[in-house]
Order: sequence, then C-alpha cells, then structure tokens
Amino acid sequence: MTVLSDKLTSVLGRKTAAALAEALDIHTVADLLRHYPRRYAERGELTDIAGLEIGEHATVMARIEKVAKRRMRNKPGWILEMTITDGHRRLECAFFGNAHQRERELQLGKTGLFAGKVKAFRNKLQLANPEYQMLDADDESTDGSALDDFLGAIIPVYPAASGMPSWSIGRCVRQVLDTLEREEDPMPRELVKRYELIDLFDALHGIHRPKDHAAREAAEKRLKWDEAMAIQLIFAQRRQSAVSRPAPACPPKPGGILESFDKRLPFELTSGQREVGEHIADDLSGRHPMNRLLQGEVGSGKTVVALRAMLQVVDAGRQAAMLAPTEVLAAQHARSLREMLGELGQAGELGAAEEATKVTLLTGSLPAKERKQALLDAASGAAGIVVGTHALIQDTVSFADLGFVVVDEQHRFGVEQRDALRTRGANGTSPHVLVMTATPIPRTVAMTVYGDLETSALRVMPVGRSPISTTVVPVAEKPAWLDRVWQRVREEVGKGHQAYVVCPRIGDEPPSDKNGDKRPPLAVLDVAAELEAGPLDGLRVGVLHGRLPADEKDAVMRAFAEAKLDVLVATTVIEVGVNVPNATAMVIMDADRFGVSQLHQLRGRVGRGDVPGLCLLVTETIDGTSTRDRLAAVESTTDGFELSRLDLELRREGDILGAAQSGTRSSLKLLSLLRDEDTIAEARLRAQEIVSGDPELAAHPGLAHLVASVIDDDRAEYLDKS
Ligand code: ADP
Ligand code: MG
Repeated sequence: MTVLSDKLTSVLGRKTAAALAEALDIHTVADLLRHYPRRYAERGELTDIAGLEIGEHATVMARIEKVAKRRMRNKPGWILEMTITDGHRRLECAFFGNAHQRERELQLGKTGLFAGKVKAFRNKLQLANPEYQMLDADDESTDGSALDDFLGAIIPVYPAASGMPSWSIGRCVRQVLDTLEREEDPMPRELVKRYELIDLFDALHGIHRPKDHAAREAAEKRLKWDEAMAIQLIFAQRRQSAVSRPAPACPPKPGGILESFDKRLPFELTSGQREVGEHIADDLSGRHPMNRLLQGEVGSGKTVVALRAMLQVVDAGRQAAMLAPTEVLAAQHARSLREMLGELGQAGELGAAEEATKVTLLTGSLPAKERKQALLDAASGAAGIVVGTHALIQDTVSFADLGFVVVDEQHRFGVEQRDALRTRGANGTSPHVLVMTATPIPRTVAMTVYGDLETSALRVMPVGRSPISTTVVPVAEKPAWLDRVWQRVREEVGKGHQAYVVCPRIGDEPPSDKNGDKRPPLAVLDVAAELEAGPLDGLRVGVLHGRLPADEKDAVMRAFAEAKLDVLVATTVIEVGVNVPNATAMVIMDADRFGVSQLHQLRGRVGRGDVPGLCLLVTETIDGTSTRDRLAAVESTTDGFELSRLDLELRREGDILGAAQSGTRSSLKLLSLLRDEDTIAEARLRAQEIVSGDPELAAHPGLAHLVASVIDDDRAEYLDKS
C-alpha cells in the first residue's frame, strides 16, 4: 500500500520517478496527487484554441484538418505538415522525421490530444514538435492503458512539460491511486462537517478520475478548502506574531506640528481622507505595530494622508521613513513633502517654524558629503522624516528612533521586505507600517496576498481628472497604424503639448538569452535614436531611465517639466509620482510586456491637466490571445477597481501570488481569487480561531502537515520567520 509521504521511486520505479522530478519537480506521492488536472477534456469536445497562451506548454484536444507530407528543401527526408483545429481556430504543426509512420497515425478528420509549446510565427499559432495521442486510433500503436484512460467520458488534462505529456502523468496518477491507503484526514472533523466536505482520500480520487461532474465538483470543493486553510493559517500566524510584538506608541500631541500643518492645508480633507486618517491615528497610538495597506488611485490624496501620519509620529518625538521604489521617485517625494510642509519642514534653516522638522533625502547616489550629512541626520534624530528607496531599510542606515515606515507602491514590496522592517525601531521594536498602493486590489487578493495587512481605501478623487482615451495599436495586423501613432504625437506637440514614449527595456544591458525565441523587448536608447532620426525628426527628444546618474535624471525631469523637451522616451521610472500636466499623450511600446495594473498606472501620467489624455498601446501580439485580451481590458475602462477585477479574470492567478510574494511557484491550483471569495473569507475566520488558541498548531498536527503539503517550501519558510 502507498501513503502520501512515500517517495515516487518506490511506487513508479526509478526511471519514471526521475522523469517526473526532472520535468515537474514532483517527488512524492503527495506531490503527484496535488498536481491536479488543469482542466478536463470531454470526449467529442474540442479545446478552445483562443484560450492558449503563447509560450505555454499546452495540451489540446483537436481535430486534424489538413495533413501533408513534403520533401525537405535542403536535406534528404520528409516533413509532415499538419493543421489542427477546434472548429474555429487553427494551430500549425510540423514534424521532422518518421514521416511515414506519422502519416499512418495522423489521419485527416481524426481527433487526438496534442501537446507542445505554443508559438506565434508569421501571425499564425504553432504547436512546435507536438507529442500526441490519437483518441480514435485503432491500430496497435495506442497502448491499452491509454486507450482505457480515454474510454471514460471525462479526460483529465494535466499541466505538462515536454517529455512528460499529460497522458503519461495520468497513467502515473492512476498507478498511484490504485494502491493508495486511506489515512486520517488532516482537516479537523468539525470543519469537514460544517462545510460538508468530502474526505481527502475521496477527493484525490475524485479530482483525478472523476466518475461524473458531481464527483469532480465535490473533490474540487474539498481541495480548495485545503488551499484556503493552508494560506489563511500562515497569515493568521503572521498576524498573531506581528501584533504581539512591541511597537513605539505615538499618540497625537495637541499643539504639535500636525495641528499646525492642518491649519495651513490649502484644501479640506475629503471624507475618505479624514476617515482613513482617524484609523491610522488610532493605530499609531497603540503599543503594537500597525500593518496597514492604503489603496487609492494616483491622485486620490494618499500622500497627504501619509504625511499627516508621519507628522503625528514626529510629534511623538520619533522618526518616520518613507520608501519609494526608485531614487527618482524618492527625490520627488522628498521635494513634494518639503513643498507641502513649507516652513514646517525647514528645521535648522532660517525662517523655520518653531515646531518644524527636517525632511532628509537619503539615497545611494547622493554625493559623499551630502550622504554623510543625511546619515548623520537619520542617526541623530535631526531628521524627523527620512525619504529614500528600500535600501534605507536593508542597508546599515541607523535611525535614532524609527517609529513609522511608509512604503509607496506595494507591488514591489513583498512579505520579505516587510520582514526586514521588523526590528528597526528603537530597542528592537517593530515600527508601524503603512503600505500605499495605487492599484486597487480586489478583496480576495487582499485576503490572500496581503493577508497579514489591514486594508483601507480612498475611493473618491479630491480633484477632477480629464478623461484618458486608450487605443490598442496592433502593428502585426495593421502596420500602417504605427506611422499614425507618430503623426498623433506630432499633432499633440504641434498644439504645444508634450508626450511620453515608454519602452520595457533600457538598451545598454548585455544581450540576454532569457527571451527564448522572442525578440528582446524594445529599448529606450534604440527607440529614442530611431524616433529622432525618423518619425519625430525635429522634435526635442529626451531620454530617462533608472541607470542615468541622479543629477542627469533630475535635469531631464526638470527639462521635461519646464517644457524644454517635447517627447520623453523612458522606462517605467515615470510610472508613479511624475506630474507634468502639459503632457497629453503616451505611447507604450511592446505594451504586452507590461502588466495590466502597470499600464493603468503608466497612463495615469497623462490627462492630469484640463486637456483629455491619449494613451496608445503598441503591440505585435496577435488578436485572440490572452495577452491581447489584457490590452483590450485596459482599453475598455479607466476605472481602477473594474480593471483590477478584469485583470484578475485574465491573469493566471499564480502570477498574482508569485509577483506579490517572492516569485515562487503558486500554491493556489484550484482556489480562484475570482470565484471563491466565500471559501477564502470563511477559511480566514476559521484559521484565525484555530491560531488564536494554538499559535504553533501543536494541537493540530494534521493542519501543520496540510500547510506543508499545500504550500511549497519557499513560502512555508514564512512560517518559520514569523
Ligand atoms: P496620491 O499620492 O494618492 O497620488 P496626492 O496625495 O499626491 O495623491 O494628491 C494628488 C493631488 O491632489 C496633490 O496635488 C494634492 O495636493 C491634491 N489633494 C490631495 N488631497 C486633496 C483634497 N482633499 N482636496 C484638494 N486637493 C487635494
Ligand atoms: Mg503619490
């Protein structure tokens, strides 16, 4: 008999086990049985080709629509060319070698499973060197077990890899299931009863070899609970250990700098800003660390909220740090905080207010003398507010009494970075943390990815913005549109406005082979040179990217802000914080290389004045691919909350977790952040109850085990850290 913890070598033999380990990082019976089918094919129902991703290893059920053998041009031998279809769309395949045998197997009109890497070539989708398994083959080449697999109505299709096609995985799974022993269920009995879950043993059978759809659904429901509980247990433990740490209490001080600031504010706070501000003020007053996420679109007034919180901390005699993702942004934040503070931010200077504090910029690229002074300001406590990049926290910068850290832009600031903050307060206390993001996050994502944070949102914009119209420019299908793009840029400049051109890459980096068969993304330096020499000849074109020296970056930004440049060709360094109301157009090259929220964020740079903004998303991707669908979503709405929902529908959920965490493999295979909100919310409550009574899960060994088997190793490390 086989148990979940067995190594596959003893069950499947050395050779097969090695192949699974090599292709899919699968080592134990549990690994294999937690490798669930990606979907199920129904006999007689073809796979929707439109849903395939370029670059993915896909398994499709399709019909052979065309097949022809021809001689190779320069060599002896034959090529077999084949077109397969789902009835609407087509995939081209080519086989080299074995043409005669393949010709016998691959007959016109027959249906089969085809597996391989999806590629795009000359506007057509290809399946490169596919492996295949014909369903209605009647010769001996189809072995009995495979045929038997396909006799059932529901055929599991596994995430596969080359050398380990879906049907081989299916065969291994069946062999393991045939001898699997029924062990004690790790899920507590009261949860199984309360949520009407089936036993783990039955669920594993039901997910891999469902008798019917009802059996598959029951299995899925149970296994989703495994995932939801595992994740929520980890977060419950993290929250538990976070709130039990000591933090510097920063109660508000009457007559302090915050009151003076509020008196000078040139506008009324919105009701959202007031409400969120009160929550934060309460949190900061406490003796345990605040861990809060503040969402609000660009321009919703987050910075004011953060600054007021920092001033409360300064009033309590402690320091606040503000972290930005890049040095350009840090410099900008420092400037705008100083501007907002006026004489309240000029401590040590002539004409400063009595209760004034000092805002210090501390980045790696400061001249040595300035940097030394800034380090001194931080260490002595002279600086009430220190602005820098994330390096501020990772480095050896010391603070006199750090009470509060504001992190701008959460998506580059994951769990590990938050961990690094934990002991940076005076006497090893944990500073309060406010993470700000301009990307609205759906509730399930907040619970799953930022499960250790409380969340607040600013939903109302304080000041009106001009509308932004967005258009996808599909240069593969409509090459002439690209000329029109540069013409539009010239028109905007002709009206006295300015434009951004954004590229995914700088262009001074050594060649990389990471891109595989894809051409490398367009680069700022190349594109700027081409535009100046051609389509934008005669315009004043500037270049901005993260590897320019800091003073040069500043000079370029200033020149653009003062309208001494017409066009700024840049990387995503302009993504946040840049505010040039006269810039009305943005062209994003290779737009498909950016994420949905990043594109949304980027286009927020235009439409900031009283003239409507224009955003053009240039792409070579082909219509009907999911990458193109993501661009269409960005085109379809400028409502950030709606877009984040669409994004969730279109993205692979693993990417969401992967990007937000440390880039490790996703632990969510079945649980959907879109559809399983109830399960996630319930699991969060139950996990909280369990952990508050048993923080180490000592009395729940089954659950501890469940966490380990569902969450892969890298993520489970968070358990140890907390
Ligand atoms: P965010 O950081 O969310 O992008 P900011 O805090 O930078 O937004 O605010 C955007 C602009 O709106 C700033 O110029 C700011 O001074 C202004 N602003 C903020 N709050 C208000 C308000 N309540 N009323 C009017 N203007 C505001
Ligand atoms: Mg801001």
